[in-house]
This record gives sequence, C-alpha cells and structure tokens, in this order.
Amino acid sequence: MTTTLDKKQKIKESLKKTKEKRKNQIAKVYQLKTSYTNLNKEQKQWFERIFLEAKWLYNYVVADIQNRLNPQIEKTKQVEIKTPNGTETREIKCLSSQMRQGILDRIKKNLSDLSKAKQKGIKVGKLKFKTDYRNIPLKQNNITFKVLKEKNRIKLQGLKKPIRILGLHQLPENCDIAKAELIKKPDGYYIYLTCYIDKNQIKQEKINKPIGIDFGIKHQLTLSNGIKINYSVEETKRIKKLQKKLSRQQKGSRNYQKTKQKFQKEHQKIYNRRKDIKNKILALLKRYEYVLIQDEQIKQWHSGLFGKQIQNTGIGGIISRLKQNLETLIPVDRYEATTKLCSQCENKKEDIKLSERTYKCNICGLVIDRDINSAINILKIGLQKEERTTIKNLPTDCGEVTPVERTATARILGSNPYIRISYASLKQEATY
Ligand SMILES: [Zn+2]
Repeated sequence: MTTTLDKKQKIKESLKKTKEKRKNQIAKVYQLKTSYTNLNKEQKQWFERIFLEAKWLYNYVVADIQNRLNPQIEKTKQVEIKTPNGTETREIKCLSSQMRQGILDRIKKNLSDLSKAKQKGIKVGKLKFKTDYRNIPLKQNNITFKVLKEKNRIKLQGLKKPIRILGLHQLPENCDIAKAELIKKPDGYYIYLTCYIDKNQIKQEKINKPIGIDFGIKHQLTLSNGIKINYSVEETKRIKKLQKKLSRQQKGSRNYQKTKQKFQKEHQKIYNRRKDIKNKILALLKRYEYVLIQDEQIKQWHSGLFGKQIQNTGIGGIISRLKQNLETLIPVDRYEATTKLCSQCENKKEDIKLSERTYKCNICGLVIDRDINSAINILKIGLQKEERTTIKNLPTDCGEVTPVERTATARILGSNPYIRISYASLKQEATY
C-alpha cells in the first residue's frame, strides 16, 4: 500500500517540477522526414501496417463507444471491421500498447470537446469513421520512441533497428524532447517532435538592432544592412506532366488513383520546399530586435503585372507569416515614397524607373543599390514614426552587415538549395 502511495507522490512531484521548468521554456515542433529509401522491406511493411491498424482500432471503438472505450481495449489482439461482405476480423499486432493508449486518449478528447460544444448550444454530430488514419501519437519519450541524434536515427517501439531521419541536426543542444507524432503524408512518413527549449538560449542569439526590409521582384528580400535574399520554387515539369495525365484518365479508375497518388506526392514536395524557405527566412528575421516593412506593398503587386511571379516565390505568404509570428513587426505606410527618397540626405526624386537598379542622388552624390536605398528608408521612416521611446533611441545609422549577421544568415539560409544569399555593399563608388 505504501509503495503505491510513494509512487503516486513521486509522480506528482515530478509533474510539478516539469511544470515549473516549462515556465522558462518555449515549445517547438520539428517536422522530420524519415528516409524512405533507407527503409528495408520489413520496415516499410511495418509503417503501412501500423497506420492500417490505427484505423481499424479507431473505427472499431467509434462504432460502439459505450461498450468499447475501456482499458481492456489496450490489450485486444483482434478487432472486427465492416467490409462490403459483412464483418471481418483483423489482428492488431504492430501497434504498441502506448500507441493504442494515444489513439484512445484522442477519442476521449474528441468526445469531451464534442460535449463541451454541445453544452454551449452548438449543434454537434457523432464521431465519424475514418477512411484513413494519418497521425499516430507517440506518448512517452524513451518508450515509444528514442532520439539518437549523433546517429541521425530514431528508434521506434516495435521496430528492431533505429531508422534514419532527415533534419535531426536542427535540434538544439540541451533541449527537452517531450512527445512525438508519427505522420503519414503522400510523400512519405514523418515524425513531428515536440521539444522544449530554454528561453535564455534563444535570447542569446538575438541581433540587437532593427532591420528594414524591401520586398521586390528582382531580389525578393533586401535588408537595410545589404543582405539580399532570393528564392524560387517553381512548379516542376513532373507535376505538369502528371496533371495532364490525370485529366486524360477516367476518374475513379485504378490508373487514375495511381497517378493521383504520384501527383499528391509531387505536390507535397513542392509545398515542403516553399514552407521550408518561409520558415528559414522567418527564423533569420526573428533574431532582429525590430523588423520594419512597408505595409500592403504586396496587395498592389498581386493585381498588377507580377501576379504569376509572386505565386512562385510566395512573397504574400511570407508577409502574412511575418505578421503572425513577429512581435516586433513595424509596418510603414504604403504611400511613403521609399523608392524615390535619398536615404542619405532625404532629397526626393521626381521619378525612378523600374529599370534603374541604382539610385543616384543629384544633391549629395550618393550612389546606392535601389532596393537597399528603399530598405534603409523603410527603416528610418518606421523608427521616426514609432511612439515607443525604447525604439526611438535606437541608432538609425545603417551600418554594413556585421560578421555575426553574416554567420547567422549563412547558417540559417545556407542549407536550403532554393535560397540564394548575397551581400551588397551599402555605399558604391560614384561612376560619373
Ligand atoms: Zn542624397
């Protein structure tokens, strides 16, 4: 009796400790892909099987929640499923008991969400059957899964050998790995790792200055310190081909399904590439104390000439991500003539053509890259208009990119093959 009490006490204490620790931490989810080509036949079968078993178990319980949602179900070896010819028995042999628990917990959570919604007077239905189960919770670190970072592998409960995972190097040192999810997507299997990272560790990486950004067509992002970022993920030839093929095939036929799967896989690839770019750019900008952009710059473009180009580069997506994720974003009025203004003496030109890539000032003689000039103007105007005194007191001189910024930029953006970074000098020699 005392031992169980002791055990309960211990769990309670450790939960309390964790809660205290989490106050100084930030949760971050890493989306890691398994290397499908490195899986052997047995492992591939295992992956296919557990998602099937998860579906069977889920549907079996949902079909009769009152009688079937109980602790015994965690040990059940067989479930019955409905088929066009009646019912059939299916074995549950690959899902571990913790994985089953995770699936059952989800059902409980969904039920409680439904009843809460009902109490609020919202009309709710029942839990629906799933035709595809794509997301298996892995509850306990070191039991359902174990991260072997140095080996670039993760050991999953039920598989003998650890499997190769891409992107594990992204995990910071000394982070707490809390839980994971196993995800099935058209282009392969993923593991989503939830980690907790110390807030202090993140703060150290801050670059203590404000930065202005000019969004453009020739260079998608130009920062006021001279860093230029270009990226583009175009639709692949393969996806165009598959789309054509799909349109010729008979809907619902076996071949149509096959092509559709290939199409979804290719689509997922392109989507991932674009998403990764946005994440990386965001990660870089998050390091700056304040980020200033010209508001609504993009809307004007969308309606204009550059619609297609913007789609490929997804600038619109980046801006909305910036707005959601940066606490320190300062928008500058879109009607400010940031391209016509000289960033050194504030002389305003009548007009500057889109083809003129260099800004030359007739008054003070400044010769500067057109986009950097704009970015500096956005930075200056934004800081001047800000009411917050802490920001007002920041230096508005626009120094060149520092070594710290260079390394940070290269480290964050350099690993993506679709991003090109260049460092332009702020002041250029006048060439008369
Ligand atoms: Zn000037």
